[in-house]
Amino acid sequence: MAIISSSLDESNSPRSRKELKLVNSNFNIEVKNDKNVNLARPTSLQEFVGQEQIKSVLRIAIDASLFRREPLEHILFYGQPGLGKTTLALLLAFEMNAKCRVTSAPSLERPRDIVGLLLGLKEGDILFIDEIHRLNKLAQELLYSAMEDFRLDLTMGANKGARSRTINLPKFTLIGATTKLASISPPLRDRFGICQKIEHYTSHELQQIILNFSKLISINIENEACEALAKISRGTPRIALRLLRRVRDYAQVVKKTNRISIEIVKKSLNFQKIDSRGLDNLDRDFLSFLNLNNNPTGLDSIAARLGEDSSMLEFVVEPYLIQIGFIIRTPRGRVLTSLGREYINSKNEQN
Ligand code: ADP
Repeated sequence: MAIISSSLDESNSPRSRKELKLVNSNFNIEVKNDKNVNLARPTSLQEFVGQEQIKSVLRIAIDASLFRREPLEHILFYGQPGLGKTTLALLLAFEMNAKCRVTSAPSLERPRDIVGLLLGLKEGDILFIDEIHRLNKLAQELLYSAMEDFRLDLTMGANKGARSRTINLPKFTLIGATTKLASISPPLRDRFGICQKIEHYTSHELQQIILNFSKLISINIENEACEALAKISRGTPRIALRLLRRVRDYAQVVKKTNRISIEIVKKSLNFQKIDSRGLDNLDRDFLSFLNLNNNPTGLDSIAARLGEDSSMLEFVVEPYLIQIGFIIRTPRGRVLTSLGREYINSKNEQN
């Protein structure tokens, strides 16, 4: 039960809810329903490329809820950034014809933030909380009863003057997204009826995503160019789309064309210092530091040396370097493999 230090009206009517002073309704929540402002986001589950197993689980959950006229079960998505967790939440809202309120855990620091958010929900709404592992303990505790019994248990005041209040909430669906499943407390994790891991995409799926987006932005991309972009996109749609946008800029501004060939891809990537393995300056600095150190190195030392955030290195840079066999994680730190050493030495020789 959360302790909120403010007074609350005795009744639980909608009017008294409006008068609550303890809640904060000013923080940033994006409400999304029918307007797809990000062109790259698919507009239906069918258009969402890949993740076939997850899509079938979600399709059954959606149809069952629609059939029973009930809100969807609470859903937890976990996986690396840029794999489509937010997109799936918005698609679920679209399929359920529901409003989706989008927020992220760091903006729900005070209990009144989450209380305000929950009290603002309507029957059937979807609440999407990104980086849900970063919710503090109080906010998580408030969510337990909200998720399980659609009820807010609050304690106002302190010591002898403390009073408990229970407020009923409309039935809503919480969709949580996280890159760190292990950091979510088990009681919170257990309250999600559906928990799905979003996997990296195959090259073929990424080509489909690139192709679909090219059509949307009226770009004509040749097969070989599409394949080359997919190959260096680290299994991640966000990276594939970002690369495509940069290549489009180069094609339109430097080459004055809307047709992307393999030559344009190569020249544009070269211009951005991205090599044929898809590695950029940051990846190379990471590898060079390990090469110089020649010992297992802690992530924090690498982050300090490169002036980068350690979680960005952990979730964005490292997974790909591990995947292509250039580094390994050991209990004593990160180690460069012989393949990684060979690569970085050959790059140094070229410079
Ligand atoms: P996350 O929330 O996991 O960080 P997003 O949902 O924000 O990732 O996705 C990043 C970008 O990639 C968005 O522009 C989204 O439209 C696109 N995207 C992600 N997954 C897919 C997919 N399966 N099909 C098409 N586009 C996708």
